[in-house]
Amino acid sequence: MTTPSSSSLPASRLITELQSFGVRLADPKAGAPSRRGGAGPSDHKAMTVDGRTVMVPVHTAGAFASPYVAEPPGADGASLVRRDGMAMGRVTFPRQPRFYALQTMDGIPYSKIAVLHGADVLATTVLQTCIRYQSRTKTCQFCSIGQSLAAGRTIARKTPEQLAEVARAAVLLDGVRHMVMTTGTPPTPDRGAAILCESAAAVKAAVDLPIQGQCEPPDDDRWFARLRDAGIDTLGMHLEAVTPEVRARIMPGKADVPLERYYSAFKAAVPVFGRGQVSTYILAGLGDSHEAILEMADRLIGMGVYPFVVPFVPVSGTPLEDHPAPPPAFMHDLLSAVGGMLKRAGMRASDSKAGCGKCGACSALSLFED
Ligand code: SF4
Repeated sequence: MTTPSSSSLPASRLITELQSFGVRLADPKAGAPSRRGGAGPSDHKAMTVDGRTVMVPVHTAGAFASPYVAEPPGADGASLVRRDGMAMGRVTFPRQPRFYALQTMDGIPYSKIAVLHGADVLATTVLQTCIRYQSRTKTCQFCSIGQSLAAGRTIARKTPEQLAEVARAAVLLDGVRHMVMTTGTPPTPDRGAAILCESAAAVKAAVDLPIQGQCEPPDDDRWFARLRDAGIDTLGMHLEAVTPEVRARIMPGKADVPLERYYSAFKAAVPVFGRGQVSTYILAGLGDSHEAILEMADRLIGMGVYPFVVPFVPVSGTPLEDHPAPPPAFMHDLLSAVGGMLKRAGMRASDSKAGCGKCGACSALSLFED
């Protein structure tokens, strides 16, 4: 795929703007299908800006009112992006992955088992149900894990055999380079670690693919060595919000797990997976101040944890669908500061073996590490 590099805005600025405002598509069918609902980047479409594939909101209320419009792709596959009629840059759309055309012997489309994220990441939600999603008063307000399940776009539980089959096909047919396995939280004290272990072991037996596991901190730190031994290369334990008030408001169920438990889990996990191979998602724009996020990022980096700071995206159908996305200037300044911290610490997304930090499609953070 050729990628035009003639952006009117620098790539980091254009990506931050597109991720904050979203974009209206003159041709909604351009590129790989967008995704509604589920864990990870929902209501987004993958677009490539100056060689970097990012997830841009296209189905959110903000995107429908975005000043950015992507014109239909030309003969070279590139689409001109305009703001108020002025050309701001060009994007291309990754093609639909070949493995989406396949299905299992019992008729389940591979795309209901795992999907392509960014340019080269296979992503799956192993368990599409969550103890925190049972009650409106406990659910994480930004999450739509149940929506894609209710809409029949995925299945509730992906078996290790199914994951291995799809991972093998995605590597062979589409050159996928790493895999993200997240999970809703089951009602067991391991918080999903056991499911990740059996899933990772099956994938690793089928194909050589670096894997990031993502779960809440399990009850027992011995799970970290078990996860590593099963084939998990990097681990994400996601804070989402960093101050107690915002945690309690945005994720009333998950906030029951105290910050102190996250800190102790990070401390135990980093020696197992290595510095920079344990990470956490921080959603900016939900109420945490710059200062609070920077203070947390500093603390995490000091512990060897990669703070993946991403702009919050209000997903349709969630309690936060009308919450504004963070302004581009807020994100630019924040990512610039966190990027500077990472640079000074010598911690880089590109050194991560697998996962969201390495993919970087949900945040322009790694552009600020250089
Ligand atoms: S950063 Fe993570 S959630 Fe976002 S597209 Fe990449 S793998 Fe998916």
